Amino acid sequence: LSSAIAIGIDIGGTRLRTATVATDGTILDRRRRSTPAADGSSLIAAIEEEVAAISGSLPDARSLPVGIGIAGLVSPDGLVRYGPNIGIRDLPVAEELRARLERPVAVLNDASAAALGEQRAGAGQGRSDVLMFTLGTGVGGGVVVGGQLVVGAGGFAGELGHVIVERGGRRCPCGNRGCVEAYASGRSIGEQAIERLEAGSRASRLRGLDEVDGAAVSQAAADGDVFAQELLRDVGGWLGIAIASCVNALDPEMVLLGGGAASAVAPFALPTTRTTVDEHVIGHGFRDMPPIELAVLGDDAGTVGAAVYAAEHAPDHAAAGEGPA
Ligand SMILES: [Zn+2]
Repeated sequence: LSSAIAIGIDIGGTRLRTATVATDGTILDRRRRSTPAADGSSLIAAIEEEVAAISGSLPDARSLPVGIGIAGLVSPDGLVRYGPNIGIRDLPVAEELRARLERPVAVLNDASAAALGEQRAGAGQGRSDVLMFTLGTGVGGGVVVGGQLVVGAGGFAGELGHVIVERGGRRCPCGNRGCVEAYASGRSIGEQAIERLEAGSRASRLRGLDEVDGAAVSQAAADGDVFAQELLRDVGGWLGIAIASCVNALDPEMVLLGGGAASAVAPFALPTTRTTVDEHVIGHGFRDMPPIELAVLGDDAGTVGAAVYAAEHAPDHAAAGEGPA
């Protein structure tokens, strides 16, 4: 039986997941609750409660480092500069929790954590250079190079959802225009469907629905709706442009698509994504192209990656490890 290396926490806009993770990346124990309403102190209190609860159920969990993946911009010292989906700004998550939990704490972006989790224990296992795009309400990303997560100079690397695919294109929630998120997120897929329905007279079962969102488009496509299938093929093309730019920059061994919407979008989008990547990657006929595959860990990717990151990067982990077992 593998022993625990760290506790991983994944904080999204709606769910807060906690897991104890073993040396080989498997999950030994997990908990789940809703993310508390928008303020820093209730978030910190919720994390403290979850760590206490999961530590109590494992004999050796009390000294484990804690890794936290959070949706937002996170600086290397664990300051969450901006977490729009959770409603926090400039919250020193690592500093607050180190004082309260008296153990090493590391904080990183949630999609980066998911990418690291998949690279170590999921679809990217055995490969050292892996890119991951997470498709959900927004589009996130993570970059692993040489087996290490790339966090960048300020902690903001891997925001692959904001790779620009069209200058002056669709407006993105980040404030820019033309980001791939503005074409391939669940939110934007729903918006594009509504715009196309309003602009034309094409038949589609989506016309009969009260609410058209990304999930409704994917469902319609799965049910044989040609209008929805065409839209998802176009989404695959935009995604392919973004992936090709990242492949040209980083030459990964593999590109993963994860996040809640990936498996529903992929059957219709992925063939176009692959041909678009081939068209736009330099010298594609003269090199091995990275496979583009679905991630496999699902909701566990973020907690696994956060735990792995904490085990390897949490400050004073070495010192903590020297204490009594
Ligand atoms: Zn953007």
